[in-house]
Amino acid sequence: MDKNEVYNIIIEDMTEDGLGIGHIDGMAVFVKDTAPGDEAEIKIVKVKKSYAYGRLEKLKKSSECRIEPACPVAAKCGGCTLQHISYEAELELKKKRVLSCLSRIGGLENPEQYLDEVCGMSSDREDVPEMDAAAYLRYRNKMQFPVGRDKEGKTVTGFYAGRTHSIIPVKDCLTGHPVNRYVTSAICEWADKNKVSVYDEKTTKGLLRHILTRVGFRTGELMVCLVINGDKLPHDTELKQQLVSAVQEYNAATVRGNDNGEKQSAPEIVLKSFVININRKATNKILGEKTVTLYGADHIIDYIGDIKFQISAQSFYQVNPLQTYKLYSRALEYAELSGQEKVWDLYCGIGTISLFLSQKAKAVYGVEIVPQAVEDAKRNAEINGITNVEFRVGSAEEVAAELPDSYKADIVVVDPPRKGCDEKLLDTIIHMAPQRMVYVSCNPATLARDIEILRSGGFEVKRFSVFDQFSRGMHVETVMLLER
Ligand code: SAH
Repeated sequence: MDKNEVYNIIIEDMTEDGLGIGHIDGMAVFVKDTAPGDEAEIKIVKVKKSYAYGRLEKLKKSSECRIEPACPVAAKCGGCTLQHISYEAELELKKKRVLSCLSRIGGLENPEQYLDEVCGMSSDREDVPEMDAAAYLRYRNKMQFPVGRDKEGKTVTGFYAGRTHSIIPVKDCLTGHPVNRYVTSAICEWADKNKVSVYDEKTTKGLLRHILTRVGFRTGELMVCLVINGDKLPHDTELKQQLVSAVQEYNAATVRGNDNGEKQSAPEIVLKSFVININRKATNKILGEKTVTLYGADHIIDYIGDIKFQISAQSFYQVNPLQTYKLYSRALEYAELSGQEKVWDLYCGIGTISLFLSQKAKAVYGVEIVPQAVEDAKRNAEINGITNVEFRVGSAEEVAAELPDSYKADIVVVDPPRKGCDEKLLDTIIHMAPQRMVYVSCNPATLARDIEILRSGGFEVKRFSVFDQFSRGMHVETVMLLER
C-alpha cells in the first residue's frame, strides 16, 4: 500500500478517537469522518508498518446509522466523536468493544453469555428539564469553557478545535446543563462592558482563563468558578448580580415537571456558590491551587441515590450522576451483601462506591492514592452519618498487601483508572481469596488483561453489564462479577 493510492473500503468499527476502521488486504485503515456501515472511496495519506490512514474522498453508500448531528459545531469541536451516528449504533459499538476485548485479550470464550445488560441513557430523566436535544445528551454536571476573543474582539467562550488551542465560539455544549448558556452569556457581556481582559496563551497576559460550572442535578445548586490569571476579579459584585439574573432568566424560560404529576420535577437552579480560582501559571492545567469564595458557599451539594456529596471547585465528582447511580447500584447488586461482610473498595476516590456499599455491609475499607480525595471521602461519610467505613491514603497494591488479618475482605471491589490494576494487587487478591470480586472498569482492554490473571488465579467470570456514562464518545464502562 502506498500514499495517494485510492481504494474502496467498508467501515466496520470506530477507534477511541472516533476514526472509522476498515480493512484493505487485511491491513487496518483509519478514516476520519466515516461511520460503521459506510462504503467509501478513500485516498491513503499515511502508511505505517501494520496500519494506515486514509482520507474520505467519496461516500459511495452512506451507513444507515448516520444521523444529522444535534450539535452545530460537532464536526469542528475536539469533544464528541460520535455525533454523526445514532445512539443505538453507539451502544452497539460499545458493546462490541467490550465483547471483543474480553475474548481477544481476556481469552474468555463466548463472552456474550455472561452479559446482563447494555445500559444506555434513558429518556425518563427528571434531572434536566429542557430535553431540547435528546435523552442521551445533557448529562454532564461539570463543564469547563475556555474564554477567548472572536475576530471582532468580543469576549467568547467555546471549545478547542481537535488537537489545537484555537477556540470555536459556542455558548453551550449539548452534553452539559442548559443553564450554562445563560451563565456564559452573562460573563461575556459583563467582560465586554467592563473591558475585562482575556488570557492569551502566547503572551501569558490577560485575566479571564476559564469558566467552570457545576450543577447539582438533584438539588439544582449551581457553582460558577472563574479561573483567572490574577488575584482579584474587578467588578465582581456586578457580575454576581448578573449571574443571579441569568439564573432567574433561565428558570423563567424553563418548563418543569409533566402533566400527570407522576415524575418529580427538575429543581429550579439556584446560584449557591460563586468562586474564583487563581491560576497564574503558563500551563495546560485548568485549575490553580487557590480558590476564593466571592459569594455563597465554597461548595454545592448533590446526591447519588440517597448519598449526599459536598462538591467544591477542585473536588473529583462523577460527571454523570444518573448513570453513576445505575452503575454503582449494579456493583452493589453483584456484591450480594447480607450485612455481615467486610468489603474492600480499592481505588475508592471520594468514596462513592464505599458509601453505597456501607448501607448493606458490616464494614467497608476504602483505599485511594490522592490525599484530597480521601479527605472528601471522610467528610462525605460524616455528612451522611455513615460510621462503618474507613478510608486510607496510599496505593491500592501496597496498602492491600500490608493490611492486617482483621481487615481480611469477604468481598473486594475495584474501580481502577484506565491503566487497570497493578499486578501486585491482583496477586494479593488471589492469595486472600475473597468469595466475590466486583470489577468496575473504565477501560475494557485493561479489564480483559486483568481478568485473565484473576481467572488463572482461581476466579471465574459470572456476569457483567456495560454502561454508557459518556454518550457521543467511545468511552465505555463495564461492571463485572467474578467468583472463586
Ligand atoms: N469510585 C471512585 C472513582 C474511582 S476513579 C469514586 O466514585 O470516587 C479511580 C481512582 O483511583 C482515582 O481516584 C485515582 O486517584 C485512584 N488511583 C489511581 N491509582 C491508584 C493506586 N495505585 N492506588 C489507589 N488509588 C489509585
